[in-house]
Amino acid sequence: MKDFVYNGLATRVIFGTDTLKQLADEVKRLGMSRPLVLSTPHQNSEAERVADLIGTQAVIFSGAVMHTPVEVTQEAMKVVEKTGADGLIAIGGGSTTGLSKAIALRADLPQLIVPTTYAGSEMTPILGQTEDGRKVTLRDMRVLPETVIYDVSLTLELPVHLSAVSGLNAIAHAVEALYARDRNPVTNLMAEDGIRALARALPQIVRDSLNVEARSDALYGAWLCGICLGCVGMALHHKLCHTLGGMFDLPHAETHSVILPYAMRYNMQAAPEAAAKVAQALSVDNAATGLRNLTREIGAPLSLAAIGMPGERIGEAAAQAVSNPYWNPAPVTEPAIRALLTDAFDGVWPD
Ligand code: NAD
Repeated sequence: MKDFVYNGLATRVIFGTDTLKQLADEVKRLGMSRPLVLSTPHQNSEAERVADLIGTQAVIFSGAVMHTPVEVTQEAMKVVEKTGADGLIAIGGGSTTGLSKAIALRADLPQLIVPTTYAGSEMTPILGQTEDGRKVTLRDMRVLPETVIYDVSLTLELPVHLSAVSGLNAIAHAVEALYARDRNPVTNLMAEDGIRALARALPQIVRDSLNVEARSDALYGAWLCGICLGCVGMALHHKLCHTLGGMFDLPHAETHSVILPYAMRYNMQAAPEAAAKVAQALSVDNAATGLRNLTREIGAPLSLAAIGMPGERIGEAAAQAVSNPYWNPAPVTEPAIRALLTDAFDGVWPD
């Protein structure tokens, strides 16, 4: 066994079906008496349900949007100050969790997150926020949620397409955790089991979105993958998705879906042990092809062209992707990244 450091992150996790009914007790446990409930406009009815469960003291802010723009956070901060909110409850995906974290960073309030996608943000001390069109990511323990309630029943209505791409977004955290420079035996276990659970569940969800067993496996896998993202450093895949998302405003989870098999292929030779673990978790011989086949099987997008990237800007994207050096198992060079992006743009995959 090699020497290692494991940084455990302390979040209380309630997992199960119909666990939302434990919300009031958990709110009390955190000492919140005037929580602010957060959601996207689309999930306002879920926020109302949460407010009903905890009583009349709760105020709702349903303005969360993708990429956590600072202007929205400032608007929410005014509500926090006006109402004297003493805690945050977020119900939704990574965008709503992002707003909660952005407020927690500024007001140092406790957070209770109820995730309804597989993005995994609720398990990390990471916040990405956008100002003047630039998304900047930071790590700060103030943004790590205190409590997370995973309620499988809230994910049954997650549309099939979103389930597929969000699930692949989660798998991407685990894949990169397996070849992270600071990987360790504990995150390796979680990464492998997370990939295994999601790879088994996602095709079942695509066939029958109301399959509670599969939904439960997927949410469990997403939890594990989220822990991996919080505990160890990410590499080429996440950096590329961040660059592409920021430059072209591409949809977050879809970008992860397209890039993941290409990033795995890029790193296969330099990270053979990780590739073997991914392949084993997917029950296939070749990790990259296995990820590509899973992406195809669950109907997620297979090319950057399909999700709106302008093809004439591949060179510019490659230049930006290598402009800030970072650690990756295989050397990151501009020609190699341009070749990766060209293949990913066209959705070309070698047989
Ligand atoms: P999202 O939160 O933007 O959700 C997409 C849409 O789906 C929203 O309209 C939302 O209201 C809706 N939705 C969510 N759950 C639903 C459900 N169960 N049923 C019906 N509709 C539902 O998407 P996401 O992929 O979860 O999050 C993406 C964002 O999260 C990005 O900004 C990304 O950067 C961030 N993120 C951050 C971290 C981190 O650790 N900081 C990790 C992963 C993702």
